[in-house]
Amino acid sequence: MSSRPTSVDEVSSLVRRAQQESLPLTVVSGGHGPWSHDPDAPGLRIELGELTDIRVDGTRVSVGGGATWGAVAAALAQHGLAISSGDTASVGVGGLTLGGGIGWMVRAWGLAVDQLVGAQIVTASGDVVETSENAHPELFWALRGGGGNFGIVTRFDFEAHRLPGIVFGEYAVSGDAGAVLRVARDVLRDAPRELTVTFMDVPAMDPSAPAGASLNAVWAGSDPEQLRAVMAPVAALDAVTEKISTPRYRDILMEMPAPEAEAPAGPPGFIGGNGLFAEVKDELIDRLVAFRAAYPASIIFLRSLGGAFGDVAQDATAFPARSASWFVMAGAFDIPGLVDDAARAAIRADWQLIESGRLAEYGNFADSERPEAVPGMFAAAGYARLRAVKAQWDPQNVFRRNHNIVA
Ligand SMILES: Cc1cc2nc3c(=O)[nH]c(=O)nc-3n(C[C@H](O)[C@H](O)[C@H](O)COP(=O)(O)OP(=O)(O)OC[C@H]3O[C@@H](n4cnc5c(N)ncnc54)[C@H](O)[C@@H]3O)c2cc1C
Repeated sequence: MSSRPTSVDEVSSLVRRAQQESLPLTVVSGGHGPWSHDPDAPGLRIELGELTDIRVDGTRVSVGGGATWGAVAAALAQHGLAISSGDTASVGVGGLTLGGGIGWMVRAWGLAVDQLVGAQIVTASGDVVETSENAHPELFWALRGGGGNFGIVTRFDFEAHRLPGIVFGEYAVSGDAGAVLRVARDVLRDAPRELTVTFMDVPAMDPSAPAGASLNAVWAGSDPEQLRAVMAPVAALDAVTEKISTPRYRDILMEMPAPEAEAPAGPPGFIGGNGLFAEVKDELIDRLVAFRAAYPASIIFLRSLGGAFGDVAQDATAFPARSASWFVMAGAFDIPGLVDDAARAAIRADWQLIESGRLAEYGNFADSERPEAVPGMFAAAGYARLRAVKAQWDPQNVFRRNHNIVA
């Protein structure tokens, strides 16, 4: 059963009904999360697509719980503002923010949750509650990284940043990806926080990028020479071709629609995972490059962290691993006919070597089927604290179709 509420009161009535009738709830914002793809999930599906208001008052921005980041970036551009979000326009403010939110400005401005200053939430009892550092601060703490476990957020309040302009660097990699990664890693160790980079190496079948290895860099500023100077060691490599441009921030968010819920076949399975790492050592780079070479339908993907992300104290939000300097993802698509049982086992074993040494898993890029993995998505003290918040606000576990924190 699916419902598309048009008001907070309607959301509240739907949650009350789910609670009274013990109906499992699916909450859909942008629809990119793994629980949103299954139209046959039992219970009640609440789609927030009518709650998309975006209001700007100075640098304070209030966003409806069903808005997408592309709409937010477009609305804020008119005011010379931006919020660090993710890299894709159609991703929902709801799912991305509640899980943390690693985007193009993560080193300049931190995670999406680091810009969150308040939220309106419909709790498991159907009550509408305002949260902030001053109102139910422990619930507000849990919303910043603890996912959709505590209620339905109908309004997010952010403190936006004045956008200084951006410079975008594209570095096509035609040779030794390992050498490029090593130099990029060394650059990022001392780089100004204005610089955030991603590296990816993907096969032709992945719609998120052109096939092959590439590195993209965003400079939070308007002067292309500043990006050129800091990235000079990467651009100087024979394997690399540099292209610099000065697009609008909203235009660097990729267009990638969420999968249709009614699509007969979902995306292919993915064997692999992600991790937040304190360091990317040579050994890890070697493993990643070897993984990509061994499996034709595999991807490797890295994002730099540090800067403003690392300024936030570990216990200030529920997000784990503030000491991480890189986010790493690797895996292979499980394509029938291409991947057999032996290959599956080999991919799993290689991934396990890669993930060893990670500080935590980032839930927003994790699949839905592993409740036993949830504690590994948080710092130990943070997980205990999240369980206490869950016990207070959702003791019956009404909100369980997520990386579920059980009280
Ligand atoms: C193409 C693509 C690009 C991505 N890029 C990035 C990126 O750059 N950075 C990054 O950090 N992550 C990224 N992600 C991961 C993304 O953050 C998660 O998939 C996220 O859960 C998607 O949010 P959504 O609102 O679109 O999905 P949904 O499926 O609508 O929501 C995911 C879950 O969040 C909860 N939820 C959503 N909205 C609410 C709400 N208002 N109140 C309460 N609970 C809610 C629900 O539990 C829901 O199941 C990307 C994912 C994809 C598929």
